[in-house]
Amino acid sequence: MSAFLQSTEELIDAAAVVARMPQGVLARLKRPDHVWEFEIPVRMDDGTEKKFFGWRVQHNNTLGPYKGGIRFHPDANLDEVKALASLMTWKTSLAGLPYGGGKGGVAVDPRALSPRELEELSRGYARAVAPHIGPHIDIPAPDVGTNAAIIDWMVDEYAKIIGHPEPAAFTGKSIEKSGSQGREVATGFGGYVILREYLKNEFQTKSGMDTTPYSVAVQGFGNVGAHIARILFEKGFKVVAISDSKGALYDKDGIDIQKVLDIKERTGLIDRGICYSMGPSQEPCKVFTNKELLELGADILIPAALEDQITEENAANIQAKVILEMANGPIARSADDMLERRGIEVIPDILANSGGVVGSYFEWVQSLEQKYWSEEEVLAKIDAKLTEAFAAVNEEKKKYGASWRMACYVRAFTRVANALQAK
Ligand code: NAD
Repeated sequence: MSAFLQSTEELIDAAAVVARMPQGVLARLKRPDHVWEFEIPVRMDDGTEKKFFGWRVQHNNTLGPYKGGIRFHPDANLDEVKALASLMTWKTSLAGLPYGGGKGGVAVDPRALSPRELEELSRGYARAVAPHIGPHIDIPAPDVGTNAAIIDWMVDEYAKIIGHPEPAAFTGKSIEKSGSQGREVATGFGGYVILREYLKNEFQTKSGMDTTPYSVAVQGFGNVGAHIARILFEKGFKVVAISDSKGALYDKDGIDIQKVLDIKERTGLIDRGICYSMGPSQEPCKVFTNKELLELGADILIPAALEDQITEENAANIQAKVILEMANGPIARSADDMLERRGIEVIPDILANSGGVVGSYFEWVQSLEQKYWSEEEVLAKIDAKLTEAFAAVNEEKKKYGASWRMACYVRAFTRVANALQAK
């Protein structure tokens, strides 16, 4: 069993003890309902045929249809998909959504495929999962390595199979193909809402929050990392470090995130040779490694790339006061305990990044009801849902004297377990 899957199971075990759940319920909630495994053949541009391994794991649907993204990544594997599917069950429960949890994956580097090969793979994935999904059964969405264009191909392929369009069977569609305004920024925006509520709760100020003293380091500059970095920058936080898979950038006076984004939009790159400083410096930001970014003394550390970034090896070197987990599973379980002992607060993934699935839920509602809301309306609905979720977790935390992570798991687990027992 992978460390990530083991960590996920240990968390459920611990939450079950705190919530005093019967062993039978616990055993049922650790096991996925269904595991679908398949090979997807793709005719490569050089004329050869290549087969890619793919999975869809449906973890639990006690509260509603399975819900979760599809990851295209060279390291994707069944254990990872199982762990991520389980996380989705707890995440949707915690957010108070009428959903269960699922996840998909394909072991592939999408950047190594041509657009035609990528389309064939995406359509092949849709054909493989078509018998098991649907707007009231299982609703996939994008995750790492997938995007709206890939989901649009899947929606199109699924429509061909079932004989009519069914946009509510997927979320994360492009706006042109019945997607929702605000879906793309939803995860990053949700992270900001949770951080705002956390800071309000921890350090009450007249305006609700004093942002000026907070410095932030963001690992990962994809959909999630770039949006939260931009939103925090716009809200007045000092984003001192950002990174992608090629390395990190640091400036003690803060980085002009809008400038980074403008250049990235034009060139497709975070240009390392340009000055992005918010201070008087005319020099390019200091280039350093992701390891250095994680160990930086910023007030708030935001891992927004991949899992297992903070482990027993580097947990003792983390200097941030608060970690907002925007990636799924960025902190290994053993490292989590070390951080807790050192008094570093961790706002866990199932709360911090749940804006994505809440945004997906509102896209699903619009697709089912053929409604179209403005970005402002969608973000206001996400804000209200997450503010409510944070308050509920805070109550749980006070009741059990638990960490944020344990309070989240106890609440999420109890909701699913009670519904299961009632059934
Ligand atoms: P993405 O593919 O858009 O971006 C990933 C980013 O991480 C890229 O900038 C990449 O260069 C960077 N990266 C990869 N390896 C890295 C490394 N070792 N060090 C530093 N940076 C690295 O993916 P995303 O959609 O932004 O997802 C990021 C995380 O957030 C994942 O854990 C995903 O499961 C989680 N998540 C995503 C959503 C969503 O709506 N997209 C919702 C909830 C959770």
